[in-house]
Amino acid sequence: MRLILLSPPGAGKGTHCAWLTQETGVAHISAGDLLRAEIARGSDLGRRLAEYTTRGDLVPDDLVFDLITPVVAAAVRDTGGYLLDGFPRTMPQALRAKQVGVDEDLSADAVVYLTAPEPVLVARLLARAAEQGRPDDDPAVIRHRLTVFTESTAPLIDHYRGRGLLLEVDADRPVEDIRVDLRRILADRGLLPEG
Ligand code: AMP
Repeated sequence: MRLILLSPPGAGKGTHCAWLTQETGVAHISAGDLLRAEIARGSDLGRRLAEYTTRGDLVPDDLVFDLITPVVAAAVRDTGGYLLDGFPRTMPQALRAKQVGVDEDLSADAVVYLTAPEPVLVARLLARAAEQGRPDDDPAVIRHRLTVFTESTAPLIDHYRGRGLLLEVDADRPVEDIRVDLRRILADRGLLPEG
């Protein structure tokens, strides 16, 4: 299974990647986690990345691409697929990913788009802030990240719909209902076993 999860912050990408990776054995690759790991290392690159992430801005496409491409290639080699959580997030990233996908046989089978109204997303992110204390889960930064999604990432929805890859799932429901729905949709595509 090679899946892209394209959703606004707070829609539940991480939650659904957790059971999907357990059931399928393919690697869960979170772009945000990779960036946070680099920042935690305290490298020069990490310091550059933190300037963007703490503001809730996207880091420049080239930096994300260089960090994530080898990880995706290794995931396909070692686990037979990937769950890409938080990448691509801009049209240039999506177009370059498409090219690399074709060149290096890493193309995605489908793109899951989890949707929920903005107030629901904000409430979930504020709850997560209280639990995890992520520096970019502060109320002003949360609002900014949702604006960044609308401006930079939302155009990917039509892009993937046009390529026949988009699987849209209403994420404003209990997690278990979303999970049942997602499982059925992926089974319909032949990406999970029936039943
Ligand atoms: P996330 O954990 O997916 O919410 O990502 C946290 C932060 O990492 C985002 O707000 C961005 O600053 C940065 N980030 C994650 N993925 C990307 C990406 N594909 N392109 C640019 N910046 C990203």
